[in-house]
Amino acid sequence: GKSNCGYYPARLGQPLDAGRYIIVRKLGWGQYSSVWLARDRGEDRFVALKILTCEATQALSPGESQRSDEERMLTKIASADPSHPGLRHTLAYYESFQFIGPHGLHRCLVTEVLGYGVDYIRKQREDGDRRVGPVTVKRVVKQVLQALHYLHDVCGIVHSDLKHDNILFRPLDLERVVSHELTEVPSATYDCGTEATPTVIPVTSQGLPLSLDSTVKQRDLVAVLADFGHSHWQDRHFQDIIQPDALRAPEVILGHPWGPPADIWNLGCLVTELLIGSWLFEPNSETLWTYEEDHLARMTEALEARFEISMLDKCTHRDKFFKPDGSFAHFTQHEEPTWTLKKLLESFGELDGDDEIRAAELFIRRCLQLEPEKRAKAAELIDDPWLAS
Ligand code: ATP
Ligand code: MG
Ligand code: MG
Repeated sequence: GKSNCGYYPARLGQPLDAGRYIIVRKLGWGQYSSVWLARDRGEDRFVALKILTCEATQALSPGESQRSDEERMLTKIASADPSHPGLRHTLAYYESFQFIGPHGLHRCLVTEVLGYGVDYIRKQREDGDRRVGPVTVKRVVKQVLQALHYLHDVCGIVHSDLKHDNILFRPLDLERVVSHELTEVPSATYDCGTEATPTVIPVTSQGLPLSLDSTVKQRDLVAVLADFGHSHWQDRHFQDIIQPDALRAPEVILGHPWGPPADIWNLGCLVTELLIGSWLFEPNSETLWTYEEDHLARMTEALEARFEISMLDKCTHRDKFFKPDGSFAHFTQHEEPTWTLKKLLESFGELDGDDEIRAAELFIRRCLQLEPEKRAKAAELIDDPWLAS
């Protein structure tokens, strides 16, 4: 279709960057790019090529050889503090280049190759249950917190787009995983053609994540935070509205200053979602109130809390949602909240006993304070007792 014409139509076996990289197969795609597994003949290793669409490439400011902010951030992350424990849990970046394809110019980011994401683990159960066991959740969350600690306290970055498909696992033995896959998987997935007539892969085809060796125990999982395409510098925001809708922090909706605590809110929503198997907040618009007012009201319901006037006074959009006394403008708050966080965890969480439920709730509450200043920082949450249990 026309909307896809900005994607680069890569061919299997195709050389890029003067023959340094050879396309092996497709790994995935997103709004701004398609991502390919490639052999790096210079370093003799596999790499991921994130090839931006022509539109995304055009949107980069010219000059400085069109480096994107995503590249600047990846560069900062790779170099800010090589000994930081969070570095291991962020996507490793190697370099970038650009080239001209049939539709125009493409910027291309070269990074390490990752495997399945958290989403894949969620979809493992055949009965459609989307919950993840608490042991795995804690393991993943600890690692994501290390990454956030590094981004927030060392790199000056707010990720702003924490979601399951941006948390991926690092294959332990990449060479072996790929060589196994190349004999087993891709020919059935794509028509590979022969070397003489390499096949163009439809840009809309999904691509396959690298499978992780099934013998690899879950305890070995290394979680990596990827996709800095929507990230912001703490001292330079590119837009006011950030984050996926349902994971959006209250200060973002309300037009209150935001920063690293918005990632922590986002993480609190994700942890709950993994434990209960459905979204924590699923707002709706009604005739009387908007999606956003519903979202804010659900936050107060789940947390059994109110927005303080002192916070609302700092919010540009205060009057869209609240009366002067701090009650909702259109929504009538019920005296007895129906779905509190505690009740959600008790009813749907796969948690082992009251102590575990209580500990999980306390952890999530440290992330889901309505006021961003009151939320725990990534560095503090790493030592939370729930994660250690
Ligand atoms: P979005 O619409 O999410 O912003 P995007 O165009 O910015 O998409 P990414 O999210 O970075 O692109 O990548 C798209 C998909 O490609 C990912 O969801 C993932 O499945 C896959 N992918 C990205 N980077 C890698 C990598 N380094 N290794 C393996 N797969 C990857
Ligand atoms: Mg993405
Ligand atoms: Mg992106």
